[in-house]
Amino acid sequence: MKTLHSQSSILNSAVATMLAATASMAATAWRPEVDFAKAPVYVATNATVPEVEAARLIMRAQAMVAGREDPLTNAVPAVATNFPKAGIVVGWQGTALVAPLAKDLGLADWYETEPKCQDTIVQKVVGKTLVVAGNSPQGAYWSAGDLLYRNGARFLHNGGDGEEGTFLEYMTGLKAPRDWRYQPEALIRTGFQDRCRKSKLKGAEKDAELIAKNQFAARNGGDAVGPLTGGRARESIGSESIQPPVNEFKKHPDWFPLIDGKRWRPAPGTGWEWVVEGCWVNDEFTQWVVDNNESWYVRKGGRDNVAIIDITNSDGGRRCQCPDCVKLRASYPDESSCYFDYQTKIALRVKERHPEMRIETLAYIMSRSYPKAGNKVLRGIEAIDYCPYSRCFIHPYSDKGCPTNKSDLDRMAEWKKADLPIGDFDYMFDVFNPPMGLPVWELTADIVDYWKDYNKPHRMPRMYSEAAVEGGCGSRSRIAAYVFARKLWDASQSADEHLRDWCRVGFGEGAEPMLAFLRAEAAAWTNQPVHLTACFNNPLGTAKTFMTDALVAQGSNAFAKAESLLFAAAKGASPRDTARIRKQQAALAFERKVFEEWVALRAKALATSMEIALESGEPDEKGFARMKKYPMSTRYPSWQGNDVTDSFAQFYRTQDALRIRVTSNDKLFKAQEWRERRGEDGQFDWGCKAGTMEIFLQSPGQSGYRHFAVTAEGALYDALAMDAKAFDSADWKVDSVQRDGFWQLTLTLPWGVLGINGAPKAGDVFHAVVINNAHKVNEKSGEVATFAVGVPFPAYHDIGIGASLVIDDFGGRRPE
Ligand SMILES: [Zn+2]
Ligand SMILES: [Zn+2]
Repeated sequence: MKTLHSQSSILNSAVATMLAATASMAATAWRPEVDFAKAPVYVATNATVPEVEAARLIMRAQAMVAGREDPLTNAVPAVATNFPKAGIVVGWQGTALVAPLAKDLGLADWYETEPKCQDTIVQKVVGKTLVVAGNSPQGAYWSAGDLLYRNGARFLHNGGDGEEGTFLEYMTGLKAPRDWRYQPEALIRTGFQDRCRKSKLKGAEKDAELIAKNQFAARNGGDAVGPLTGGRARESIGSESIQPPVNEFKKHPDWFPLIDGKRWRPAPGTGWEWVVEGCWVNDEFTQWVVDNNESWYVRKGGRDNVAIIDITNSDGGRRCQCPDCVKLRASYPDESSCYFDYQTKIALRVKERHPEMRIETLAYIMSRSYPKAGNKVLRGIEAIDYCPYSRCFIHPYSDKGCPTNKSDLDRMAEWKKADLPIGDFDYMFDVFNPPMGLPVWELTADIVDYWKDYNKPHRMPRMYSEAAVEGGCGSRSRIAAYVFARKLWDASQSADEHLRDWCRVGFGEGAEPMLAFLRAEAAAWTNQPVHLTACFNNPLGTAKTFMTDALVAQGSNAFAKAESLLFAAAKGASPRDTARIRKQQAALAFERKVFEEWVALRAKALATSMEIALESGEPDEKGFARMKKYPMSTRYPSWQGNDVTDSFAQFYRTQDALRIRVTSNDKLFKAQEWRERRGEDGQFDWGCKAGTMEIFLQSPGQSGYRHFAVTAEGALYDALAMDAKAFDSADWKVDSVQRDGFWQLTLTLPWGVLGINGAPKAGDVFHAVVINNAHKVNEKSGEVATFAVGVPFPAYHDIGIGASLVIDDFGGRRPE
């Protein structure tokens, strides 16, 4: 076994005696006891970036407490070779000052910490010295952040200058507990960190540092073993490592999937070109995967630097169709069993050489369901991250009335059989593109509470929220991202308590009107009469359902009131209060900008919303003959230009049913042999593939919606929201007329299938999104790709923006 950074520091007998005196004190609640506001701050000679930054943070806080106007942004801590008689020592057990105390502080290598890979922080007074420590370099930083938080400092968000969201002004002292030790709720708490800028000091990334103050972890760019973690990573970049290296396609074509009779890789330059599956029956490929994961682990320093490595397959690459791969897949009771058995094979082989190595993987796409083959295909894996991409972004998991969450909740419940820690790879902040601000602090808090309870008796393993911090909606959703980070550290406070705290600190004298508005905004979010799932939705529909007239009015008033209160407070304020108010004004201006983006989008949505009179007609061809044709359009920036498919949709009703027809003149469409089949599991691997049509339909007075899909080969799919099991009807009729370059699809949907008793009444409104997933040649690669057009546009699950099909007051027929 390797040893960690063996140190040669001297633990003098005086320190040993002091430790013995304090060792008997049991760590309980955090209690402020000794003031270190004036104490000098030390790090060891071999301190890493996180420790030095932690010490600097404490020094700046001390300056603030002392009332100094200059918060000493360039302060550098003293370097000590021996444990100081008085002061503050910042470090982890790998450094010279802390190593001799490690055992007494209860700090150990993460492989020896229980549960394994658990973060531990310590704040302990030894004689006249406060030790602010953690069991990793970043842990030392978190310990400093925690100490300041408990003294009143708040680190609300990443500001433009990296300091805007840091409020040290609320500190009145720097009191420390005598002996305190803490392990956070979740083992790994992380988000993407895209925007990394260099600061003057050792290249630390200032923004990532800000996140770390809330004990959240960020990657240093793409590498988790960067300077901000002190070279140590909990998770790793091993993700997507069960796939062949695309640049070796020429050398090893047999490692790549056989698609339509040829070994295949995605064309370079088209984006996502690294996403490719391997040929799993190719032993050479499997050996390469084993070697590649091992060499990454060794290169990054093995167990000293890597707590757990994440191994997954490609992000939705096409499966190999070679006869042996097809046979292999057919030999398992389900896709998930096949996946995990292959993964187990890789994990066990890597562990032959590195038995201590810890491996986690994703429950994602082909591995999303608990394997029917059971735990015997889950060997060699220490933790799993469930990917809840069917979740509802409007309603929390705890809302049992939300049908959209049901499929994820059912699958998650099945996963309990694994008896492994199950983490969450959440997409909360990926819901919209373009990104928008989300008032979802109640939802992010619910994620933590749900998984905390779920994982008993295990601890929460990796809790990950993509784009929680930067990029995506996270950059505009400061409060929700903040609450998520805080809750993952310590789940004892509710979302509303954090919201109140945020308003108090972030908006100062303007807190009261903002708190009232933000509460109303969060309520308006979850009261929308829709569900929303899948990622990167167009937010136009939500702008209509979320931003009500009343909310717009309340928001405008609240911002004006808060602005005037802060303006009044700034008059005659002390220099320190002036600095604080300036930050609060910036925080308020930011929230106003986010709010106004929604207001503007709402105006656009109302102006562009599509209303279609749902006339009544004959239940045959005569019905369609006189109905208006609504051209289908595209809204994707990557597909500039006109609809090349020349498609249109028609809608009308009969006594018994709603009828919808799509007529497509897609030049690249090839007529298929039509063989109608419904509800067969695994038949519907079509997700937006060319040669499919989809209809999303919300009935009057219902919050859920139905999803119908049809492939050109005759595979039929229906689902209630995203829950395929809840709705599988044989009662809807499909007529398909197709030839090369032409496809006309007609759906006859009886009212009962749409959840309507009898027939709809005058004034009833359906919402519909109708999509033709057609073909177009990609200009860059020359390959044929999916080209989606729709009415009103391809909004998929974003039913809020769907065309309104209105039953008018004229018996369904327009007056002549
Ligand atoms: Zn194969
Ligand atoms: Zn919902």
